[in-house]
Amino acid sequence: MTSLPPPGSISIDDTIALEQRAGALRDQVFGRQVFVRGVIEVSNFCRQNCNYCGMRRDNRDLRRFRLELDQLRDLIRHGLPEVITDLNLQTGEDTVGIREIVLPLVEMLREETKLGISVCLGTLDPKLYDDLRRAGASYYIIKLETGNREHYRDIHAPGTYEKRLEAIRYLASTGWSVSSGFIVGLPGQTRAHIEETLDLLSELPLAGASVSPFISGEQTPFAGQASADFATTISSIARLRLRNPGYVIPAISALNLLAEDGYVRAINAGANLATINLTPPANREDYLLYKRSRHIMHEKRVRSAIEQAGCTISTVSLAETMRQRRVAAATAS
Ligand code: SAM
Repeated sequence: MTSLPPPGSISIDDTIALEQRAGALRDQVFGRQVFVRGVIEVSNFCRQNCNYCGMRRDNRDLRRFRLELDQLRDLIRHGLPEVITDLNLQTGEDTVGIREIVLPLVEMLREETKLGISVCLGTLDPKLYDDLRRAGASYYIIKLETGNREHYRDIHAPGTYEKRLEAIRYLASTGWSVSSGFIVGLPGQTRAHIEETLDLLSELPLAGASVSPFISGEQTPFAGQASADFATTISSIARLRLRNPGYVIPAISALNLLAEDGYVRAINAGANLATINLTPPANREDYLLYKRSRHIMHEKRVRSAIEQAGCTISTVSLAETMRQRRVAAATAS
């Protein structure tokens, strides 16, 4: 495996060369194709208390919502852009919302559409993972946030570090494609933590991983802290790609809060998944990860970013790509 210099220790020219190499590797493995997935943020109830996240349970000033099943069915039947091949259903850690809303919605999506179904719902009871898988979801997004055990505890990331790793391994062993990821620039993060996290994300049984920039969250213990450094974030994306040629790596909308062309740069640095936000506008502000004024990637922005990066939109879903990979691996063994 190529050994790469840690971010921060390299010049701007070297950073650009790193991004170009990573983009070229993505092209070799996936072509210049970017998956486009929709996301619906179904509920902002959360039993966790992460220091970086505005949806933490101690944030009593947040208006909590669970979208209505009928409203969601209507959105899915009449409001989805044609360009998406996959749909991600995301919530805070809300087992009631998952059982009552997400699960029936997954069943409906499986019956009525050909969309690949991703979910991002937190660390749950394994039975709930199994029920979601049986209902037709196949791609589970569960971020590590940081790959250092003590740092994980200090930032109050969900549950425990051990349980999060156990969940990733359980999901992968029960037929899910699993995507993880981490946040660059979290308070208390050191260079060594980034290295440790990149190592771990490269060793776990993953189909993909993300690198998100830390944006200081309103109504959180980390309010007022500095946001992530753009160069460190983008070079971490490139390094993740160079170490994991086959990973699906998303471009994250918050990158545009750090640099005007942040999203396009992420695609150029090897990212190959873009997300269109489909949460009803009335609820978006309350899905409070950091700031109420979020940078929302709607269809036009996503199409434009992919075009500016000189890429095209994949017509094959993420879920189908993963299914084909599994068949190929089984045939080869
Ligand atoms: N509850 C689910 C879970 O724990 O996986 C999914 C929802 S969670 C709110 C979605 C993601 O938002 C987290 O995994 C975290 O990486 C990201 N996030 C939250 N606060 C953030 C912040 N201040 N800066 C950057 N990313 C943040």
